[in-house]
Amino acid sequence: MEKVTLSAWPTPMEAAPRLAARIGLGPDDLWIKRDDLTGLGGGGNKVRKLEWLVADALRCGADTLVTLGGPQSNHARLTAAAAARADLDVVLVMPGTGHPDRADGNLLLDAVLDARIVWAGDAAPAELVGRAEETCAELRGRGATPYLVPFGGSSALGARGYREAGEEILAQRPDVRHVVTALGSGGTMAGLVAALGPERVLGVDVGALPDPAPVVAAFATQLTGRNVTAGALRCRRDQVGEAYGVLHEPALAALTTVARTEGIVLDPVYTARAAAGLTAAVRDGDIRPGEPTVLLHSGGLPGLFGHAEATRRIGRTLRTYP
Ligand SMILES: *Cc1c(COP(=O)(O)O)cnc(C)c1O
Repeated sequence: MEKVTLSAWPTPMEAAPRLAARIGLGPDDLWIKRDDLTGLGGGGNKVRKLEWLVADALRCGADTLVTLGGPQSNHARLTAAAAARADLDVVLVMPGTGHPDRADGNLLLDAVLDARIVWAGDAAPAELVGRAEETCAELRGRGATPYLVPFGGSSALGARGYREAGEEILAQRPDVRHVVTALGSGGTMAGLVAALGPERVLGVDVGALPDPAPVVAAFATQLTGRNVTAGALRCRRDQVGEAYGVLHEPALAALTTVARTEGIVLDPVYTARAAAGLTAAVRDGDIRPGEPTVLLHSGGLPGLFGHAEATRRIGRTLRTYP
């Protein structure tokens, strides 16, 4: 199967010498892979997965993409953008009781992109999948042909996009020793592991899944045909904090540090946790000066504008002159 093209590739790889010095690496040790600059619907890592998933949907003759996620889901927003590009309808299944007065962040972009939302009430994440399957059945009953895009776009097929990203990283930084990524639904880390091997990929868990390592291992095993065990993976679980999506102090510090050293803005839920995990990994010696390191910027900026606590906390740091 050929994928559909939803962005220009490769994404840039930028040196981050000021951030490197700030966290205790050498000035030439750290690079940022700019997967926030994927050119569709505000950008982010889901674009690479959707190139494969949309190709599969078209192969199946689908006319509607259905997926699930929270109102600030980057994945849902990018599925809506991919649907527009592929001339498909899109239905997003989200927890909640109805349209809020004011859509912000990702949800605002969902409105811009003309997605339809199924409000699933207080359904737990595991129940959302069931609601998405019911939505597909309903659509079929009305003569539509839905295609269910998995949670986070993560499956062995979606992860192919990140095997390609891993190959890009190797072409851009052949000597790379560590690639640090946020670990949510697992497809991103799985694809990177398929391209780079488990020893070079550090996943920083954001708390989206109860136990992500076996999920990553299963996708990577399917993708490579080799047995990748959960025990072989490098996962940090020290940046989850209170819960998925809840503002985490080290992540807030990392977000402002990266912005104020490199002028690159992270998101509070995923990439700021990845940067906090990188900082912790350097502090505890898992990543050492002299070891070429790539931080994956997987996108998510719209989520900053949709995160009430983050906007309040960061807004309060606004300075006046003199
Ligand atoms: C979804 C997402 C991730 C995590 O990727 P997974 O493949 O779900 O593990 C990281 N960063 C951002 C900005 C995301 O939206």
